[in-house]
Amino acid sequence: MSYRAVSGDPWISQAATPWRDSFVLGGVLFLCSAVALGLRSPGHLSSLWLSNALLLGWMLRSPAYSHRHCWTAAAVAMALAEWLSGSPLDQTLWLTFADLAAVACGWVMMRRLPLRVRQMRSPSSVLHLVMCSLLVSVVGAVLGSVGMHQLMHWPWQPMMAMWFSSELMHMTLLLPVLLSFPASLEPLSWRGQPFRQIVQALLPLLALVISEAIAIYLGGPGALSLSMPAMLLCAMRYRLFVVALLNLASCAIKLATFSDVLLTSPSSELETTFSFRLGLAMLSIGPLAVACTLMAFKDMLSKLRHAVNHDALTGLLARTSFLERAQRTLERLQREHQSGAMLMLDLDHFKHINDRHGHAAGDRVLQEVSARLSQALRPHELIGRLGGEEFAVLLPGADCVTARAVAQRLCEATREIRIDMNDGAAICPTLSIGIGCTNMAYPPLGLSALLRMADTALYQAKASGRDRYFVAGERPGEADSPAFACEHSGGAKAA
Ligand code: GH3
Ligand code: MG
Ligand code: MG
Repeated sequence: MSYRAVSGDPWISQAATPWRDSFVLGGVLFLCSAVALGLRSPGHLSSLWLSNALLLGWMLRSPAYSHRHCWTAAAVAMALAEWLSGSPLDQTLWLTFADLAAVACGWVMMRRLPLRVRQMRSPSSVLHLVMCSLLVSVVGAVLGSVGMHQLMHWPWQPMMAMWFSSELMHMTLLLPVLLSFPASLEPLSWRGQPFRQIVQALLPLLALVISEAIAIYLGGPGALSLSMPAMLLCAMRYRLFVVALLNLASCAIKLATFSDVLLTSPSSELETTFSFRLGLAMLSIGPLAVACTLMAFKDMLSKLRHAVNHDALTGLLARTSFLERAQRTLERLQREHQSGAMLMLDLDHFKHINDRHGHAAGDRVLQEVSARLSQALRPHELIGRLGGEEFAVLLPGADCVTARAVAQRLCEATREIRIDMNDGAAICPTLSIGIGCTNMAYPPLGLSALLRMADTALYQAKASGRDRYFVAGERPGEADSPAFACEHSGGAKAA
């Protein structure tokens, strides 16, 4: 196993140091195991053994921890806790081996899955989670019960049933919390939110609290699923991490009131406990599947929305989306009695670049120019690709003087671009810009009137020599001399 952090994965700890990580992991696991063993009844397995789920979740969240130092630290921590709780050495070693072997099986199964699936961001995540939980539970239960039967002559059947059901419950409840734990926690803020929206957001949680209270009051076997509609409501409304936490809390409440189920059950304690734990594990899967599927659906929708609103080649706003946003911005400017300016930009002699260097080179120029134009603008200024080598920029709050300065800046930014080709030629593109401004002294102009003005001005900029801007109704202004001159033929101006 190599100890390395995979870059670009937001889950993975960046500056991992084996000894420090082993110490942290071992310390947490020791505490977790010691508490579980402290609460264990003599001669029984611990019913609160969260260490395996914690270790697996940790390893999957941060593959940098899957170093042999960390596995060793985990083994030492769990064995030490077991031994200090009074277990004989052979029992201690075997139980630790069974735990680690089970976790390792789950880790091997899950670690090769795509990150999206491990992060519970795919509809198939819950299926993988259930399969992994089953594998860990079966491996642990078989190894643990067979070994303990050989070593301590414990009856293997009840032990296998208890181990399996307990592990399955802990895995299905705790792993989703660990796997969906957000990379960065944003503080919850209600400030500025309308009261109605806050109430709507809290309603599913309220429904869950009320149904849990009713379940506790009524008791009986039906109490197990009484909160399911409220849980599904939460799954449709909240993030997966919150749903996983609520699932955990809801099952913890059911476990706390488990003694009532035992009292009313005609079956033996072993049968009832086994069935109750399996029921809880299965119950948690429904809301998780809903939350996971909805999250994947929302992810897809936002990707689709981005693809529709943005131009695939340049990443700028696409024509329709630019015009919609420009229309909304202009309406706001009119309401607030503010001015605004529209710039129409067109690359000079672009056809020549395509003809001389090929379409791929033309695409590169479009990408480079778009990136430079975006960098040269401020965040509230809108830029879009209207089509071909034509762009538009809306400057909210700008008058003609400001628009002129921005146009000058954009011309200069474009002139600084130099793309060296393999054949030794260089492309130095230039821009012509037409400017239409709204004037506060006159009735405000609509979007189409502004675009028309800017378009007419653009043609005047082209006609008067290119590589310059022109303000509608004013004299042409020539941009400064180029900062970079093309040393080779093939520049945009070489046509
Ligand atoms: P002018 O200075 O008068 O604007 O001349 P021009 O050559 O830039 O203008 P013209 O309208 O004659 O040519 C524009 C060219 O842009 C024609 C078209 O093939 C090319 N074009 C349009 N869209 C794309 C694209 O996405 N990629 C590439 N490489 N070329 C494109
Ligand atoms: Mg054109
Ligand atoms: Mg052109």
